[in-house]
Amino acid sequence: MKIALIAHDKKKKDIVQFTTAYKPILEKHELFATGTTGKKIMEATGLNVHRFQSGPYGGDQQIGALIANNEMDMVIFFRDPLTAQPHEPDISALIRLSDVYEIPLATNMATGELLMHALDRGELNWRQFVHGKKDD
Ligand code: PGA
Repeated sequence: MKIALIAHDKKKKDIVQFTTAYKPILEKHELFATGTTGKKIMEATGLNVHRFQSGPYGGDQQIGALIANNEMDMVIFFRDPLTAQPHEPDISALIRLSDVYEIPLATNMATGELLMHALDRGELNWRQFVHGKKDD
């Protein structure tokens, strides 16, 4: 599965902690991230992460483009709800596209953990059918 990881600055420590804890699950999948988030995850965990631009420089939109092609299977997006972001429209667009394509999306760690457990139990394998259909 293709999984996108994004964290706003005040949530970077959380995503490092999260990806460290769930490394045994995450390492079985293809990981993508916005620039700084990906760098921090790779440095801390050794996981292989495909990095896009930093969020404010278009990274959220690059991930959004994959979602629009139905090529992203899950989004873990630790948002900072208490700080205004210069790229707020990009963030809204990413969340909106996740809803358009029914992509499992976690915007906080509590939901992120649920998605990790679901992923590990194979409960998101229905995404394979979506990919199958797309190739028809
Ligand atoms: P970053 O981008 O991982 O490059 O910090 C995340 C964001 O702020 O959207």
